[in-house]
Amino acid sequence: MDEVRRQMTEFWKEHSKDATVEKMMLDSRASLLTEQELPEILSLLPCLNGYDVLELGAGIGRYTSQLLTRAKHVTAVDFMESFLEKNKEANGHHSNAEFIQADVTKLEFPPNSFDLVFSNWLMMYMSNEELNSFIKKMLVWLRPGGFVFFRESCNHRSGDCKVDFNPTYYRTDAQYSYLVSSVESEVTETGHKYGFDIVVKKNIKAYVEMKNNPNQICWLLEKVPRSLKTQGFSTFQQFLDNQQYTSHGILRYEKMFGAGYVSTGGPSTTKEFVDMLNLKPGQEVLDVGCGIGGGDFYMAKTFGVKVLGLDLSENMVNIAIKRAMTEKLPSVQFEVADATKRMFSEGSFDVIYSRDTILHIPDKPALFKHFHSWLKPGGQLLISDYCCGEKTWTQEFKDYVQQRGYILYTHSQYGKFLEEAGFCNVRAEDRSAQFIQVIEAELQRAEDNKDEFIKEFSEEDYLAIVNGWREKLGRSKSGDQRWGLFYATKA
Ligand code: SAH
Repeated sequence: MDEVRRQMTEFWKEHSKDATVEKMMLDSRASLLTEQELPEILSLLPCLNGYDVLELGAGIGRYTSQLLTRAKHVTAVDFMESFLEKNKEANGHHSNAEFIQADVTKLEFPPNSFDLVFSNWLMMYMSNEELNSFIKKMLVWLRPGGFVFFRESCNHRSGDCKVDFNPTYYRTDAQYSYLVSSVESEVTETGHKYGFDIVVKKNIKAYVEMKNNPNQICWLLEKVPRSLKTQGFSTFQQFLDNQQYTSHGILRYEKMFGAGYVSTGGPSTTKEFVDMLNLKPGQEVLDVGCGIGGGDFYMAKTFGVKVLGLDLSENMVNIAIKRAMTEKLPSVQFEVADATKRMFSEGSFDVIYSRDTILHIPDKPALFKHFHSWLKPGGQLLISDYCCGEKTWTQEFKDYVQQRGYILYTHSQYGKFLEEAGFCNVRAEDRSAQFIQVIEAELQRAEDNKDEFIKEFSEEDYLAIVNGWREKLGRSKSGDQRWGLFYATKA
């Protein structure tokens, strides 16, 4: 480990001699890239009002100055004297700034000292062993509910400067995601263990657009208690990715719903519902729980809108991103994000669209308030979702809902939530009859194409999915399971 530190220090000593942004970023187009990516990265951060921020690997202070104008206090750390001197020159006049020259792997702070730990290209300069204990330290330094933001070059390097020896660890984004999600704190005085939940993970658009490089990835994570386990998984994301939405499970679903879709009716209901929105070219659409993105490609291609699809499942978004490469539609973007934690500024979207997703989300009133704020005045909301009937739930239905981890309401209760969130023109329609028709058609199609299904998947897959559909049909015909369509506008 000491050898890693020695090499790292030597490398950066060599590259900090000039203390310019080009040297620090190891890129000749550093200024232009900074201009593009800075606002993008800052827009992902929570509102820093009243925040104590720790900035690690602060360099000459590209981000320090921005953080200083937003936060209550910023502690900027870097191990290169010349970088830090330059940072101080630029930002030392701020009374809320503190500068520490130190190797970040050797830092110590008391627990619960910060609300945000920010770093940009830092963890790629740590060995696996160093990184593991470092992530755990950050977790401890953060207050519960605090955030860590980091951005790394995944798979290969970002810059274009020729360097003889670049002691960088190029991990895949999956490796970083795995590392941060598996770290846990010891049990604290409050009796809780803490860990990180994903808020958003996405690639930096500036690098995709300017350098055709999709491997600049950033993460925003929240420190949360780990006591609330979802059926044995430490995060809800892991529950989704390992239970209902394994990569294989997703493709099997897609075979039933139609190419590109993981929800009721696939392309046919999508066309019907999207038509209600009167989309205009250039409008901004947010798809909450976008799955593998079929609806997003459809909207962008047919109406010329820009779509941001977010989904908490890594498996879903990985498939969506792969499909996006063949679709070649820069107007469609995808990110891994938790809709209940992601933040957007007020009035960001013309349309918020969500298909059969909110069944996974417990606090629907809070989510709908966010939707209301994220929409522009006059903006439209369209949701389809699983609901329940008014009648008492059968044991079978209870078991099903619990096993899936769904949270279901009647469609009239759902409509009330939307009104209470401030929406106008709320329409809450019971579409259960259509639901039954669609399930029957999907089932029929699967039975007609049984051989093809088995060839592509397996007999076991075929039986499992067809049985699943028959059970769904049973639950719907008995009136336990219902399907709702919701439309509302912001005044
Ligand atoms: N809307 C897509 C996918 C529907 S499946 C389609 O119509 O094809 C439901 C999706 O909701 C899954 O992809 C699941 O990962 C996602 N999801 C569940 N909880 C979420 C959350 N809190 N934030 C974002 N996405 C979530």
